[in-house]
Amino acid sequence: MTVAAEVLAIGDELVHGGMLDTNSKWIAGQLEAIGLAVRRFTVTSDDPGDLRAALAEVCARADVVVATGGLGPTLDDRTRDVVAELRGGPLWFHAPSWDRLRGWLQGRGRPVPDSNRRQAMLPPGAVPLDNPIGTAPGFAVPLGRAELFVLPGVPREMQRMLLEQVVPRLAARPGLEPVAQHWLRVLGPSEAALGERIEPYMAAGRNPAVGITASGGLLTVRLVAAAASREAAHAACLATAAELRPLLGDWLFAEGTEELHELVAARLAAARRTLAVAESCTGGLLAARLVDVAGVSAVFQGGVVAYSDASKQALLGVPADLLHAHGAVSEPVAAAMAAGARQRFHADFAVATTGIAGPEGGSPQKPVGTVCFALARPAGVAAWTVRIPDLGRVFVRDRAVFEVWRALLREPLAD
Ligand code: AMP
Ligand code: MG
Repeated sequence: MTVAAEVLAIGDELVHGGMLDTNSKWIAGQLEAIGLAVRRFTVTSDDPGDLRAALAEVCARADVVVATGGLGPTLDDRTRDVVAELRGGPLWFHAPSWDRLRGWLQGRGRPVPDSNRRQAMLPPGAVPLDNPIGTAPGFAVPLGRAELFVLPGVPREMQRMLLEQVVPRLAARPGLEPVAQHWLRVLGPSEAALGERIEPYMAAGRNPAVGITASGGLLTVRLVAAAASREAAHAACLATAAELRPLLGDWLFAEGTEELHELVAARLAAARRTLAVAESCTGGLLAARLVDVAGVSAVFQGGVVAYSDASKQALLGVPADLLHAHGAVSEPVAAAMAAGARQRFHADFAVATTGIAGPEGGSPQKPVGTVCFALARPAGVAAWTVRIPDLGRVFVRDRAVFEVWRALLREPLAD
């Protein structure tokens, strides 16, 4: 027995190309973690006809539906009304929700417009779900064959309400099959070559399921296991990972469900080592990813984007004759950039990137996609070149960033 779940994202902005539905992805992760089988995402506008059809459809199919959006105080937010209509009765006024909502606004010195009363109205049979950090309460209500949870669209509010009020209710249901994931990160082969290598593991219906996703040249082998407990699912993933490791060999360079830059930062922090970056073709992407990591200040000293020859000289101390003799995209220049950054930022390690992202600037010797890297460390500087396929500027830069993470994950960090 599985508990089938669907996610419904509601909002005009989501279907008119204005905003990406990120709620569904997040909700699915939480539901899968406690053992629901997420079957489908639906995104619909606030149009009452579309919304009615979508709600009726998903609630006729799934055991559990989590819907977000359309709970605002204005007339263009209609989720409450449409659910009431489908429940076959009028909205009713839930006084405690109104008191809470008013208190919440007053506590922030905000006016209490009468239009906010709409947010304290509930469909027949609904149980309110408190919103501790916003005005719109949510609600739980049976609809069709489903237990329907309706939450606000604001991600912060939705997330907190799901974790505190929805997940505990759902976790008590019988028939749950918790899911765990484990990811193997691979650089080098094409997706097809990787697929051939691990083909027997990718059969449909296998548990753990094994699949490949590709992004910016990085291939991720995703293992997803379902079991009676999350621990058992995790153990099943690790058992399959142990079988896959020898097949992947040197292609494999990282494991786990963290992002690569998170792994890099954690590894440097554990070794108490610091890092600086000198970026030409990656244009700040390395620095930007690193500062996504909370607490990275213990590790990341800083970086420069030195795009022109003049800035490579002025900011990183790359000698003019080196640039002249080898060109900006060369291993000697990459090495000088890394050494300059390491010295100027007083870091234990520094990485440098310099390459041709295209579409112009390639030559027979250095075609578009040629990227030179260097890693400066206490023991000296290593430089190397990668010919990245010319699949556009974004691809070349993303692939170059992954190359740096791989180098930092493989580098011995201890003295
Ligand atoms: P609502 O609850 O419909 O008033 O939504 C409030 C705000 O939350 C919207 O203006 C969006 O900025 C955001 N939002 C709504 N739905 C989503 C979604 N599915 N993914 C990400 N953000 C959303
Ligand atoms: Mg909306």
